[in-house]
Amino acid sequence: MGLVATLRAVERATRPYDPEFAEAMARRWAQLPGTAKTPGQIIGRHGVGCEGTHGVFPKCNLKCTPCYHSRDANQVRVDGPHTREQVAAQMGLLRRLRGPRAHTQLIGGEVSLLPPDDHAATLQIMREHGREPMSFTHGDFDYAYLQQLALGPDGKPRFGRLSFAAHFDKFMYGRRGIERPPNEKALNPYRRRFTAMFTRLKREHGVRYFLAHNMTVTPGNLDEIADVIRDNRDTGFGMFSFQPAAFLGDERRWKEEYRAATPDAVWAQIERGAGTRLDHHVFHNGDVRCNRTAYGFYTGDRWFPFLDGDDPRDLAVRDAFFRHLGKVNFTGTPPVLLAARLIRIIARHPATLAIALGWLARTAGRVGLTRLLVNRFRIRPVTFVMHLFMDAETVAPAWELTKRGETSQDPKLRETQERLAACQYSMAHPHNGTLVPACVQHSVLDPAENAQLRTQLPLVDTRTTKNPNNPANPANCPASQPASQPASRPVPKEKK
Ligand code: SF4
Repeated sequence: MGLVATLRAVERATRPYDPEFAEAMARRWAQLPGTAKTPGQIIGRHGVGCEGTHGVFPKCNLKCTPCYHSRDANQVRVDGPHTREQVAAQMGLLRRLRGPRAHTQLIGGEVSLLPPDDHAATLQIMREHGREPMSFTHGDFDYAYLQQLALGPDGKPRFGRLSFAAHFDKFMYGRRGIERPPNEKALNPYRRRFTAMFTRLKREHGVRYFLAHNMTVTPGNLDEIADVIRDNRDTGFGMFSFQPAAFLGDERRWKEEYRAATPDAVWAQIERGAGTRLDHHVFHNGDVRCNRTAYGFYTGDRWFPFLDGDDPRDLAVRDAFFRHLGKVNFTGTPPVLLAARLIRIIARHPATLAIALGWLARTAGRVGLTRLLVNRFRIRPVTFVMHLFMDAETVAPAWELTKRGETSQDPKLRETQERLAACQYSMAHPHNGTLVPACVQHSVLDPAENAQLRTQLPLVDTRTTKNPNNPANPANCPASQPASQPASRPVPKEKK
């Protein structure tokens, strides 16, 4: 390649943003209802929202109360080719309708029931469609599985980075070694065992990771949230996400007065765990009645927000970020390329450098020099999230009205319609070219979809070994786990 061609290629590669991504965000912004067009809204300014898969591997081998899957879910066989095919079709539609970049959860029942090669191939398909995948798991699998997922047949890493969201709470029954957790604290060794597998993977094979901790909240574990955060804040989770339980999915598994754990009560407990007030209005992800988010970092045992919502100078930083950096894709961009893109932005808008330096100085001042020195300037970014699914009884009629292009006069249904319109968690239906909010998927569409899958992918009775550590699993999980997943093992100690 000649010099001119090389310079042109460098110029193209370091362009601050992809025009197709910018167009996709503009479309998304235009579709948002007025209630969601807030100054802190991320959708349409720095992303198009999250995505998730559906109808790919609905079965799980733990039992949760509540469970968002329909009653047929556990009667569907986990099937690698079906998963790859469906995910490819769903990602194709997402790529077409939502543009070239997004964060997408590989979610269904339990992802580790997929053989590791199928799991890896599916992640690869998602990446090929511009999706940054995150596998959704209960975390009850072994290092051998993780290693087989991360490494190719040649023993070399097939991914530079893996992302997992791990669901841990005491309402999940059948975890090996702790069949019925008496409380959240009892699960801490299992949480640590999970994150330790990724530390080991990174140490042995250089595969980086991002881990989110997910927890369903009911009145029964509300007052344990703070300790979960305090006990696990330095174990490697980069996000703590809490989902107040909703009445959707399998109604046989609805056990409590879930709505007694109000959003404010849950957020107050998250704040207690973080040890500080968490301002969830600096940034919004979709409708704030669905999602509350606080971005920040730990230095030692204290959490600090990236931006202080009470400081107008920090809010100006947010606005400048959206203006100049919002269209830049940070996730998955190699650091050198990202630096080159940022330099070009600074060259075009020199004021951004002064804004950034001012913010850096203020943030360091808030943390304090002594604390920074004691912790050797080490910070751990940790995000707190609360995601509030809606109940099936309101989602179904609200969705019906939305499909008819009508707006309800009933305040509750109207709110539901607004939230659905601003949804930041979409699922794709390639057969009819539509996207639906996850609430609609679980409340309205899952039952028929899983009933159909039950016929298409019937369970094959391949029971070979009964797991002595987990007598409940065969009941939940009539088919055995895949061969790659040993039937039993001691828990929770992991050989380092
Ligand atoms: S899935 Fe439901 S609760 Fe979540 S953002 Fe979408 S509409 Fe809101």
